[in-house]
Amino acid sequence: MSGEKQIGNSHSFRLCAPRVKTRQINVGGITIGGDAPIRVQSMTCTKTGDADTTLEQIRELATAGAELVRLTVNDEAAGEALPRIIAQSNTPLVADIHFNHKLALVSLEAGIAKLRINPGNIGNKDKIREVAAAALDKGVPIRIGVNGGSLHRRYEELHAQDPAGALVQCALDEIETLAAVGFHDVAVSLKSSEPGQVVDACRRFAKISDVPQHLGVTEAGTLLAGTSRSVAAMSVLLSEGIGDTIRISLAADPVQEILAGFHMLSALGLRQGFARVVACPTCGRVEVDVVKLAAKVEELAKDLPPERIVAVMGCIVNGPGEAKAADLGIAAGQTKVAIYRMGELHRTIDKKDLEEVLVAEIERLK
Ligand code: SF4
Repeated sequence: MSGEKQIGNSHSFRLCAPRVKTRQINVGGITIGGDAPIRVQSMTCTKTGDADTTLEQIRELATAGAELVRLTVNDEAAGEALPRIIAQSNTPLVADIHFNHKLALVSLEAGIAKLRINPGNIGNKDKIREVAAAALDKGVPIRIGVNGGSLHRRYEELHAQDPAGALVQCALDEIETLAAVGFHDVAVSLKSSEPGQVVDACRRFAKISDVPQHLGVTEAGTLLAGTSRSVAAMSVLLSEGIGDTIRISLAADPVQEILAGFHMLSALGLRQGFARVVACPTCGRVEVDVVKLAAKVEELAKDLPPERIVAVMGCIVNGPGEAKAADLGIAAGQTKVAIYRMGELHRTIDKKDLEEVLVAEIERLK
């Protein structure tokens, strides 16, 4: 690349306010909060008791970029599988605990890096205190995962009048319960399936607490709808500097959650995600199968440095302009395709050779 003209994203406009300062926690070597990067996480959807399948999914998520992976510990089989899963995972793991606080104790014994407890269903305060004492002993942080759909009944009335206020109040009460036994190594999440409530709750919490926040819209939906709803809430919060770690919860392959998370953070200028693939939306002028080509380029571009830009343009209207602004660009004509490299016309090829040439040109950008 030396001597070649660099294109990249050097003139990006800053979309987000500086991060709201939070205290930092350490999850198996991964820092969350403070000046740590905003972490991207997901959750396995396998039966945790099936250690091999779970480990396979953890590896897929890690390959996609997951920095933390949560898995449910919901029964005895899951607890029994945990030691092997933890031993063979290179990614810090978070045990998701509902209803049964004993499974939190089992997870700690197995060496889990973090617990997520749902205060709405874990039971009385003594159980939470018992878990906190064991976590303190092991140096393991706890996320207090408040969820609008499973709030304790003591918040019912408040929730009916002020849903976001109930999420905040529940989180504050749990933080206090843990603090009373000397436990301060916490993160919180204030989730709802309503993006507006998530924004309201997280904003209000950030004004009164320095506990790091995990952002998410729960039960957000399928790939397209769920990503849109999640990004709608999170981009508002992240633009205000709120949020230390994120999950885009989708009714889809969890790998998509990681990819969507990085695309969002990268678009907001908060993390380097993947190389950017510019693709025209196509119209009646289109001269090549842009949809197919762009999907292929996006797949190949995952291995490129994140500052790279590749443009796939269907005709000569905007094609040359966008292609020139990219590290690599194509603009299709009726029979020929123009290939641009580093802003300059590199060569013109026959349409039939396009796919092969594109793959080779992308390889040169690595
Ligand atoms: S670049 Fe050409 S094909 Fe693509 S949307 Fe624009 S005019 Fe249509």
